[in-house]
Amino acid sequence: MSVKEEQAATEQSASFRPTVLLVDDENAVLEGVTDLLELSGYEVLAAENGQKALEIMQSRTPDLIVSDIMMPVMDGYEFYEAVRSNPDWTPIPFIFLTARGQPVDVRRGRALGADEYLVKPFDPEELVIVVNARLSRMQAIRAVTMADVERMKQQLIAIFSHELRTPLAYVYGYVNLLRDERETMSEEDLREMLEGMQRGADRLVQLVEDLMLLVKLDSGIVESELKLRRRDVGLAEVVRRVFDGLRQPARDRGVELCIEVPEELTVTSVPLYLVEAIKRLVHNGIKFAKQGGGCVTIRAWQEDDRVRIDVVDDGIGIHPDDLKTIFSRFHQVDRDELEQQGIGIGLAVARDIVVLMGGDLWAESELGEGSVFHVDLPV
Ligand code: ADP
Repeated sequence: MSVKEEQAATEQSASFRPTVLLVDDENAVLEGVTDLLELSGYEVLAAENGQKALEIMQSRTPDLIVSDIMMPVMDGYEFYEAVRSNPDWTPIPFIFLTARGQPVDVRRGRALGADEYLVKPFDPEELVIVVNARLSRMQAIRAVTMADVERMKQQLIAIFSHELRTPLAYVYGYVNLLRDERETMSEEDLREMLEGMQRGADRLVQLVEDLMLLVKLDSGIVESELKLRRRDVGLAEVVRRVFDGLRQPARDRGVELCIEVPEELTVTSVPLYLVEAIKRLVHNGIKFAKQGGGCVTIRAWQEDDRVRIDVVDDGIGIHPDDLKTIFSRFHQVDRDELEQQGIGIGLAVARDIVVLMGGDLWAESELGEGSVFHVDLPV
């Protein structure tokens, strides 16, 4: 390590002192506890009530909070709720100080979800032990979270590079072949190549469209369009549009598409988004069909003022443990083994759209037998 690096490392470790925000209206407590915590290696920010503490937190985020309950201007409970309502502050450990003989305080604080209580007057050593323990736990949780984020990042990079490279390799490979060997190719070869290029291009277009839809969902565009442009939509027509767009992949995998939807059945929606949601369910039924093909059927019927749409397949099925997670973004099951196409957002997007339409989407499945994705929508 160079002298400069060593100096920087020393400065960094010297400057890393966890910060405790101490909130109490009694000056004697503020001073006493500040001295105690500073002696134990903490930096202390002091405030005489919740309001002052929140002002401090606008510019400094503490690693831990110790707060009295009874205080003027803003008491400990209000302060606790303000802290927990900000997602950036949710993980900060929060310790209440409460006066002796106030079991109601303890019960209320527990119900709110505070991490710890100390009853005044408390043993200074106990305070330091509690603060140390809470901070160590916090650091351990943070380390695990960082490791999870890193894993997720690596997984996303792998998924994206695969999903971009594979179709591009298709297109490039065929373009090169066409350029070099066009003269000697039969009509049949030519047709196959063009279809291959089309497949690669379709996959790239699908990827871009999926990401665009994700952005439109997150930015609220889909929600406002669903509010402004919703109308009665014939469900059978929607299903036909979905099937028309998926004929080629269904043919490639030997999957038959069947429709059992009464012509008169309608739902209130924007056709484009209903197509997007159902398309993802049917596409999965095709992608996860068994080797040798299968069947994806859409059934729909009305129950009072709700319409139920079931997308049924006889494919590979989903393990019960995975049923809980498949609707999360970028979550895929056994990606390497299944060599599947997609980036794991199909079901998340479909559920987001259905929920914005006032409906619900859930799945039942049996491994090796097939799956049913249920959509429930208002008429
Ligand atoms: P992707 O777009 O990558 O397919 P999805 O969010 O649509 O991602 O699906 C997530 C995971 O759920 C898939 O990786 C697959 O393992 C599982 N899955 C979804 N639909 C089905 C189905 N009909 N049959 C079997 N597995 C499915």
